[in-house]
Amino acid sequence: MSVVMKFGGTSVADADAIGRLAAIVRRQIARQEAGGKPPIVVVSALSKVTDGLLEAARLIETGDRDLATSRLNDLVERHVAVATGVTSAARLAALTRDLRAEFAATSDMVRALAALHEVSPRLLDVVAATGELASSRLVAAALAESGVPAAWIDARQVVVTDGEYTAAVPDMAATCTRARRTITPVIGRGEVAVLGGFIGATAEGVTTTLGRGGSDYSAAIVGACLDVGEIQIWTDVDGMLTADPRVVPEPRVVPQLSFAEASELAYFGAKVLHPSTILPAVAKNIPVRILNSRRLDNPGTLITANPQPADGHLTAIACKRDVTVIDITSSRMLMAHGFLRRLFEVFERFKTAVDVVTTSEVSVSVTVDDTRRLDAIVDNLRGFAEVSCEREMAIICTVGEDIHEDPKAFGRALAALDSIPLRMVSQAASRRNITFVLRDADVPEAMMRLHKAFF
Ligand code: ASP
Ligand code: MG
Repeated sequence: MSVVMKFGGTSVADADAIGRLAAIVRRQIARQEAGGKPPIVVVSALSKVTDGLLEAARLIETGDRDLATSRLNDLVERHVAVATGVTSAARLAALTRDLRAEFAATSDMVRALAALHEVSPRLLDVVAATGELASSRLVAAALAESGVPAAWIDARQVVVTDGEYTAAVPDMAATCTRARRTITPVIGRGEVAVLGGFIGATAEGVTTTLGRGGSDYSAAIVGACLDVGEIQIWTDVDGMLTADPRVVPEPRVVPQLSFAEASELAYFGAKVLHPSTILPAVAKNIPVRILNSRRLDNPGTLITANPQPADGHLTAIACKRDVTVIDITSSRMLMAHGFLRRLFEVFERFKTAVDVVTTSEVSVSVTVDDTRRLDAIVDNLRGFAEVSCEREMAIICTVGEDIHEDPKAFGRALAALDSIPLRMVSQAASRRNITFVLRDADVPEAMMRLHKAFF
């Protein structure tokens, strides 16, 4: 079975990084079982390139087409410089020509549309796609240069999406048909298939993107379509950590966790990868491994549907800082049917997500992260309840698939937090986490104590 190897922006940032990538791919091929298929490589744009491209596109709004063009020129020169570092002779000449052509097409489009002073999402996608089209060509050439048979595949011929530009949704059935048609023959003849992540096209062939950070999603989509044995996400960290290193010194790498745990952690700010993007893989039970492209011997983090039980009963501790608690009190109404519906309708109307909810006899407390519409929400709630808000609060979420099997876990957490005032405490039905809401200022101390108690 083949594997998908996805390399993020920092893992293709320059010629050295691409050299490491080639070594990692060669190692994977060396480990391949007899008669096995070579890997499928999915790459992000070189680090910061997507930002640069989008910035150039936005310059059109002010009509600054010369500045936009000069930004694009800087980007193409950076790619050509990397090309010089990873290929030579005829291969370098062909690669340079392809890179220049890719950027020239983008530049022409930007110049043509600059007169309109208007940047459409459709244009943003065409411009942003240049990053992955270029990086994938670079990587395919670099692999070939290092002796690995490799074929470049235009990801727009594979990933079929709807027309929701900048956040397109893949059509899995159509994409899988295309993947089998374009990628399967390549790996069948023993070549590494290299394609850009993040990008796709509508059925009519108009370029789209899956949304920022979308390369993981591409890797999962392609992996799910081709039923690969594993999806490797190569990045610049050792994996998912037991806590945010900015808050807890020396957190540990989580060796294995469930998809559900990864989702809870990501929701609370664990940045490594967004689990919704690996859904297609998880739906097909394909393990996803997060690995550090600078530390090949680290085992990384393995995400599966049903991991082996962890011994500590706790997988990680995450926090979300600077949230606002809203207390909604109604002595007459709380138990009246319809009260909660009315209350949550207000949040719905103002499109504000609620994170933690606790209730008592007469009041409901909720936390929100997005306070842009807080005033309007409070005004509306005051139509039928007393409302007070407290800012500078935080959520700490202790996550563990087996937390409910350890009746002492809850007590241990509370004991660790002794004397730190807790504003809300909740354990939801999934019982995969225990969540505390407390003052933001208490987060470092609380996280440190919890980490010490459980790891
Ligand atoms: N290059 C894209 C971005 O920066 C996609 C990705 O890196 O996953 O958002
Ligand atoms: Mg990126």
